[in-house]
Amino acid sequence: MSGVIHDIFVIGGGINGCGIARDAVGRGYSVYLAEMNDLASGTSSGSTKLIHGGLRYLEFYEFRLVREALMEREVLWQMAPHIIWPMRFVLPYAKGIRPAWMIRLGLFLYDHIGGRKLLPATRTLDMRTDAAGKPLKPLFTKAFEYSDGWVNDARLVVLNARDAADRGATIRTRAKVTSARRDGGLWRITVEDTRSGAIEEVHAKLLVNAAGPWVDKVLAGSVGQNDVHNVRLVQGSHIVVRKKFSDPRAYFFQNRDGRIIFSIPYEEDFTLIGTTDQDYQGDLAKVAITDKEIDYLCAAASEYFAEPVRRDDIVWTYSAVRPLYDDGASKAQEATRDYVLKAEGGHGEPPLINAFGGKITTYRRLAESMLEKVEHFLGKKGKPWTAAAPLPGGDFPATGFDAQVSALRRDYPFLDARLARRLTRLYGTRASALLGDALSIADLGQNFGADLTEAEVRYLIANEWAVTAEDVLWRRTKRGLHLDAAQKAALEAWMRAEVPAAA
Ligand SMILES: Cc1cc2nc3c(=O)[nH]c(=O)nc-3n(C[C@H](O)[C@H](O)[C@H](O)COP(=O)(O)OP(=O)(O)OC[C@H]3O[C@@H](n4cnc5c(N)ncnc54)[C@H](O)[C@@H]3O)c2cc1C
Repeated sequence: MSGVIHDIFVIGGGINGCGIARDAVGRGYSVYLAEMNDLASGTSSGSTKLIHGGLRYLEFYEFRLVREALMEREVLWQMAPHIIWPMRFVLPYAKGIRPAWMIRLGLFLYDHIGGRKLLPATRTLDMRTDAAGKPLKPLFTKAFEYSDGWVNDARLVVLNARDAADRGATIRTRAKVTSARRDGGLWRITVEDTRSGAIEEVHAKLLVNAAGPWVDKVLAGSVGQNDVHNVRLVQGSHIVVRKKFSDPRAYFFQNRDGRIIFSIPYEEDFTLIGTTDQDYQGDLAKVAITDKEIDYLCAAASEYFAEPVRRDDIVWTYSAVRPLYDDGASKAQEATRDYVLKAEGGHGEPPLINAFGGKITTYRRLAESMLEKVEHFLGKKGKPWTAAAPLPGGDFPATGFDAQVSALRRDYPFLDARLARRLTRLYGTRASALLGDALSIADLGQNFGADLTEAEVRYLIANEWAVTAEDVLWRRTKRGLHLDAAQKAALEAWMRAEVPAAA
């Protein structure tokens, strides 16, 4: 126990916890965040990776959410133009599902309620002549094309954590909250280092529960509450196949069951297909795609692509659980995607604020709403500030990505175009911190495969809390798609030696 009393203790290093920590520390509160595994190891690395208004939510009259999310698209793009960028979506018109007028009305609202400035508006496509029609079955002759955004979800989390730490927050990973109790007007929180087993007691004035799908578990287990049921757990899975099409646009496919799936250009060489929606009751540490979901995704995509999607095409899958606020909706796909914040305590009792639900897209607004509640208990400090503050590496113009790649190649002429692009996509202006004074590729040290060098891995260990090969291969980068099993094992052994668990 250090004797320090923090203003705010945040449980959970997903997008919501890290976004809240960043906003709070930037306003002048002292912040301690504990994540039991790796940053973004929960739902926040398992999303479809869209910064989107959510066209589909209009059908469920979620106008507040859709408007807020639409407005966030350009705000987030400006904050982090390395990891967030605009994407055009092609929605083929399919007879017998939704009438064309309904889609047109939805897209009209989409174009007009969300403060769009830089993103282009919707247009109609003749799929018989447009390149987007090429990989699809010829029966889709008409489509609508609209704007949304793409995000590297796991990196968005890490960059929020990095910025929070740069501003003075304590960010602990592999740090599990095992109990949180009120005592003497403060929270006394027990944190276990899951690698070394060391126990720490931390004191804070206010506790934020941003544990995502574990939010109820934290309340029932660590906080000791009875009869907890706030979230509905809904599993969503994705498959990754070798590139199905070369067009930079993504597809929005409607299914006969009323659901939709996306097919998105992914990591240069692949296509990402997802997602599913099914209630989940299993172990949260073992979420994995089911055979039924694989069949569903292959069949749904094959309704549209001329060349069917087969099981054998799949190179990777991932699955996550949405912690949706339980509003009693009957179907998983109908449960609200909006967030709900609930505060308890005050009047002498240290407060607890729980975050339920939410989207990656609205994380910054969720954090601002959380800070309004925090101010109520702890008194006001700074003003909202995150809308105009770039995330680490994102301090270049939103439309300046290509110029940034060229600048990096000018400074480091030994980088080929593909590597310079990859490093700029991941690290933005901070790529030069990773490359240091290297004059050749050899200066970047060991190559673990697919251009993943020792310099990059050392940067991730020193600056981004990477501890295991999995952190590096599947969350800080997606090099896992390119390394073979022996290369992965070699990286794992190297990291075990480099990052031993503290005694
Ligand atoms: C399939 C799918 C697709 C999605 N697609 C999109 C999309 O395209 N766009 C979009 O905007 N949103 C999307 N979402 C929603 C979005 O991913 C989630 O709303 C968001 O990631 C939730 O973040 P979180 O921080 O609340 O939860 P999490 O990311 O799960 O973070 C909670 C963290 O708390 C930690 N934790 C739990 N218990 C403890 C403890 N006792 N001690 C310490 N740490 C603890 C966990 O390890 C976890 O890392 C999607 C979700 C899913 C499942």
